Amino acid sequence: MIIKIRLFGSLCDLTSGKYLFEFDPGINQTIKDCIERLGVPHTEVFFITMNGNFVDFSKIVCDGDFYCVYPECDLPVEDRYILTPKYLGEPKFVADIHLGKLVKYLRMLGISTVYGIIDDKLIISKALETNSIILTRDRNMLKENVVKYGYVLRSDVPKIQLKEIIFRYDLIKYIKPFTRCMECNGKLVPVLKAEIVNEVPERVLNTFNEFAKCSNCGKIYWGGSHYQNMSNFIRQFLNSL
Ligand SMILES: [Zn+2]
Repeated sequence: MIIKIRLFGSLCDLTSGKYLFEFDPGINQTIKDCIERLGVPHTEVFFITMNGNFVDFSKIVCDGDFYCVYPECDLPVEDRYILTPKYLGEPKFVADIHLGKLVKYLRMLGISTVYGIIDDKLIISKALETNSIILTRDRNMLKENVVKYGYVLRSDVPKIQLKEIIFRYDLIKYIKPFTRCMECNGKLVPVLKAEIVNEVPERVLNTFNEFAKCSNCGKIYWGGSHYQNMSNFIRQFLNSL
C-alpha cells in the first residue's frame, strides 16, 4: 500500500524543506498519524484534502490516496472543514521549560507567557484551561490529541524564535513593553513612590520617580540600567521586523 502526502507552506519548515512524501503507512492508519510521523503535529494543520475532497484527522488512509496538507492561511475554507481553527483574540502562551530566554523577551513586550511548568501533561492542561497556545520545540508534546493550539519553534535562537511568534500570531498590535512582570507574568501597575519607600533601596528612591509593581508577586520595577538595556533591545528588535 502506498500513499502520497503533499505539504504546503510553513509545514515544510518542519521537514527540512521536503514537501512530497510517498510511503507505505501500514494498515489501519489515520491521516493524523501519517502526518505526525513526518514531523508535523496536528496543531499546525489547518485543513486536509484527499484526492480533492476535504477529510478530517480520523480518515483511515487507503492505497493510492493523495493528501494535500495546509497550514493556517487565508484560503476561503468553510468552517466545517477547518481542523485547527485560527486563534481568536489576544494570544496567550504557555512555554515549555527549555524556552526561558524567549519567555523573557515575550514578557518584556507585554505578551502573556506562562513558564516554569516541567511536566508535559501539566503544560497541556494549563494551556487547555487558559485557552493558551503551547510553545515548544518538542513535537511529541503537540501530537497529543487533546492539544488544541500549539506551535513548534523552527529556530533554536531566541531572537529568531521571537520573530517567528510575532509573525505567526500577528502580535505587533498587542506589544505593550514593560507591562508584565519578568518573573511571574503578572501585570504591572504604576505605584506612587510614597507607597514603596520601605521596599526599595534609598539610592533608588533618590534617583527614580516612576515605579511599577507586579500585581501578582509584588516585585517592584523602576527605570534602572536593566530597563535601558531592555529598551534598546526592544527598539532594535522592532526596527528589524
Ligand atoms: Zn510578578
